Amino acid sequence: MECKQNQCQHTNPVPYNNKFFCKLCGIHMPQDGNVAIKSAKFSFPGYINPIQNLKSQWNRSVPVAQLPLDYQRQRISMIDYMMEWSEKLGLSINSLFLAVQFLDYFVSQKKVDPIQFRLYGATCLMLAAKSIELDERIPFISKLRRYTYLPYATIDFRKCECQIIKQFNWNLQYTTLIDWAETVISLGIVYEQDELSQTEAILKEKATNIPQSQQAQQTKQENIKEQVESTPKKSTSTSISRNVYNKVQDQFTKLCLTLLKDGSYLDKDPSELTLSLIGCVRKTCGLKTPLPKCLLELYENIQPKFQDSIVDLLSKQTKQPTSVVGKAFTNDLDFFSLQNYKNRVI
Ligand SMILES: [Zn+2]
Repeated sequence: MECKQNQCQHTNPVPYNNKFFCKLCGIHMPQDGNVAIKSAKFSFPGYINPIQNLKSQWNRSVPVAQLPLDYQRQRISMIDYMMEWSEKLGLSINSLFLAVQFLDYFVSQKKVDPIQFRLYGATCLMLAAKSIELDERIPFISKLRRYTYLPYATIDFRKCECQIIKQFNWNLQYTTLIDWAETVISLGIVYEQDELSQTEAILKEKATNIPQSQQAQQTKQENIKEQVESTPKKSTSTSISRNVYNKVQDQFTKLCLTLLKDGSYLDKDPSELTLSLIGCVRKTCGLKTPLPKCLLELYENIQPKFQDSIVDLLSKQTKQPTSVVGKAFTNDLDFFSLQNYKNRVI
């Protein structure tokens, strides 16, 4: 997906926590001379301290608890339903993430008849939308019933809504993985100075030597080839970075969806998880350094503890293209790209 690049010249730096940020577009301006790039849609004025803002967000994640067995069995298909409904209702990916985490937590705290999982899932989507979306996008019960085809009366949705709100003690303001991803993307995670890790030849050699990772390597190889071919001979590393940037941004959303479906990382420290995701996305997109020094400095003392295990998770999924998770992993992005496109033109 081609994104309109942020055109800001970053002429108005402001200091927060001994680091500089552009007041106009909010991007981090590393002191080592690296210049971050991002798309225009992640341009937000730097009026608040982004580091403090991140820390406060990290304290506001949805609680995670042990999921009941019958819910675990249906969780992926529930998420698929919720994705389908949120697409029909024109909701953002942020609402979807919040709704899934509401549902996870609710069913872990209250006994829900598995037959009613979809009723609760749909209601969580409505509550998440009420918490995030602009008024005109919020689906009220009548619309929710029409779009989900669920055979329940308005009163059932209403009862369900009350139970969930009470469980969250009337506070539905939480941040999820996708919110953190968007925040770090807006600070910058790819730099004009970034270089690709390996040449096509090395990748080809590796692909023949290690048969079990052949498929992943081939994909990587094609990606690199694509980048090399689409780059004119005279171009500098900047244009490579811009191509890679689009890939990084797309992969980041995909990866967050994969982790949401997998579910096993949702109880991890969100700051460590987010930094791991940055490293993992940069690595899978073929950048030479998964976490350059300026990124580590920006996120002060945070360790990317889960980076390797997430890369493992992804390579396992690549090997099982017929699994539900694997299938969704390849299709989800198309859905959200389309959705974002629709949202933009409205
Ligand atoms: Zn700027």
